[in-house]
Amino acid sequence: MLPIKLNGVPVTQPFLPPLEEFVAYLQQIWANKHITNNGPFHQQLEAALADYLGVKYVCLFSNGTLALITALQALGITGEAITSPYSFVATSHALIWNGIKPVFADIDKDTLLLDPAKIEAAITEHTTAIVPVHCYGYPCKVEAIQKIADKYKLKVIYDAAHAFGVQYKSSSVLTYGDLSILSFHATKVFNTFEGGAIICHNAEMKLRIDQLKNFGTVDEVTVVAAGINGKMSEVNAAMGLLQLQYMDEILTQRKAIDAQYRSLLSAVKHIDCLQPPEHTSAWNYSYFPILVRPGYPISRDALYTKMREQNIFPRRYFYPLISEFPMYRNLASSVPENLPVATEITQQILCLPIYPGLNIDHIRQVADIIQSQ
Ligand SMILES: *Cc1c(COP(=O)(O)O)cnc(C)c1O
Repeated sequence: MLPIKLNGVPVTQPFLPPLEEFVAYLQQIWANKHITNNGPFHQQLEAALADYLGVKYVCLFSNGTLALITALQALGITGEAITSPYSFVATSHALIWNGIKPVFADIDKDTLLLDPAKIEAAITEHTTAIVPVHCYGYPCKVEAIQKIADKYKLKVIYDAAHAFGVQYKSSSVLTYGDLSILSFHATKVFNTFEGGAIICHNAEMKLRIDQLKNFGTVDEVTVVAAGINGKMSEVNAAMGLLQLQYMDEILTQRKAIDAQYRSLLSAVKHIDCLQPPEHTSAWNYSYFPILVRPGYPISRDALYTKMREQNIFPRRYFYPLISEFPMYRNLASSVPENLPVATEITQQILCLPIYPGLNIDHIRQVADIIQSQ
């Protein structure tokens, strides 16, 4: 075995259920020899997640990026899609992989989510879709976005990679838009090692997506689309079923860490702790983002470096902006003048360590570094 050494405090760590419980699932997989292709655990996890999340249909995928690529395919999106530069690169990469041009619109300065007014201003005759991101699990302005989509006949595909279990006005935020995608990557609140899903609202769409993620096949002799292989294996599905049993514990621990940071940092001048926007009726405490404002004694990057020197590894989610990467920076919508809020925020953001098992001494150490500058 390779030596594994975990040094210091990472920004996140996956929740791992007791190994013997996972082994019991593996024994079942070994016994029935159904290791992938819509096996029993895959079917159980789709049903269990639909129930847990409060959505109609779940299509499991091998990761969130393939789920997003497939969601865009399923809706036949072409031309241009309006999206957020303030996200993980996978959001825009999924557009490129479908030959769709990303058009970046600016974010709101309080929620760091796509600003509906900026979305509307970015629409052209080529626009066919809006791809907003529920960044940090904060629900987008879903009603305003739907209004714009209806007015211009656009599809809405939410990158809900961060929004597992999030509710807006007491129902799942995943029920908004045409489709939403989730990520179950190891770094996310709910993980299946690697994994993801598309959330959809009717049986026909579920069938279409299930075909697309399995090479476009219907049966042994029938292929109806140029599909991809996006299937989740039984081992991943088993991890999901087991992980789901621990969600209450995971969320309780995350909530407590969130509260500790908030109380320790509330008096620190020029440090703002972000909050989910109004009408977020359930949240997942997936990240703990702070903004290091201009009056703070040192820069965000200096604070980031200070923490690293003490073996604490916060992350600058999201820096750089997607629009700053080489494959995007020449787009007209990537110019900083088009994205003044995102351009400012990306220099101030710092996500602090938060994960089940993070101990109070480390939380205090993080807060001490921030307080003592
Ligand atoms: C994690 C993430 C993805 C990609 O999900 P994978 O499961 O890692 O492919 C997409 N978008 C956002 C915003 C993410 O954070």
